[in-house]
Amino acid sequence: MFGNVFSKGVINKAREKRVVEVHVHDLRDYTKDKHKQVDDRPFGGGEGMVLKPEPIFSAVEAVRKKKKSPVILLSPQGERFDHRLAEQLAEEEQIVLICGRYEGVDERVVQHSITGEISIGDYVLTGGEPAAIVFVDAVSRFVTHVVGKEESVRQDSFSSGMLDFPYYTRPRDFRGLKVPEVLFSGDHAKIEQWRRQKAFEKTARIRPELLMNKKLSQKEKSILKEIHWERKER
Ligand code: SAM
Repeated sequence: MFGNVFSKGVINKAREKRVVEVHVHDLRDYTKDKHKQVDDRPFGGGEGMVLKPEPIFSAVEAVRKKKKSPVILLSPQGERFDHRLAEQLAEEEQIVLICGRYEGVDERVVQHSITGEISIGDYVLTGGEPAAIVFVDAVSRFVTHVVGKEESVRQDSFSSGMLDFPYYTRPRDFRGLKVPEVLFSGDHAKIEQWRRQKAFEKTARIRPELLMNKKLSQKEKSILKEIHWERKER
């Protein structure tokens, strides 16, 4: 399931620079029977299979380096993963992630083997692996020296409490679609102001709830009002 995802791109560069380590462990290596069975039928009946507790407990005990390292089960029932959580978890020396499959994991894992559950969104995946990939990618971006220009992480969506501003590159004129003039003005203050306004407008249109606790300038308040009225008229 993980294929090449951690041996390409930014995460691979981070691994080569030794600022991030990613290790994938197969639960079957922590079984003791000859069939290497990791799942079984649910007690009480019903459809599907459930991941057994023994291999998960053994795997966690083997790979967790410190008692305080977080052990996170990826689960649709977990705390919703977001920018804040990713930034916070990037401070950890080690994070153990558990990927579920089928109906999920034996409840004793949830009660006694993990420190928390994280969901990447309100939908159900067939397994925890895509969620783990999302998690590793998003958390790694906050580790120092992973993203070339750390400034760009601070500029990205959510860092400032808003979505990112729009970007343009060459050509200046593409099929008559022109790049806004202000970006060629050389006036950094003006460009900064334009970017902030565009970021604000986009956030107000698409994710207005992000602006709820933000201190707004008079101009931003009137943009917000305008967008609010535009919506009402629609
Ligand atoms: N029976 C579970 C439920 O309804 O809550 C769903 C199990 S799901 C089919 C199989 C596995 O995929 C889960 O154990 C979990 O590891 C992973 N998974 C599914 N949706 C996820 C999500 N939104 N975020 C993180 N992991 C998810």
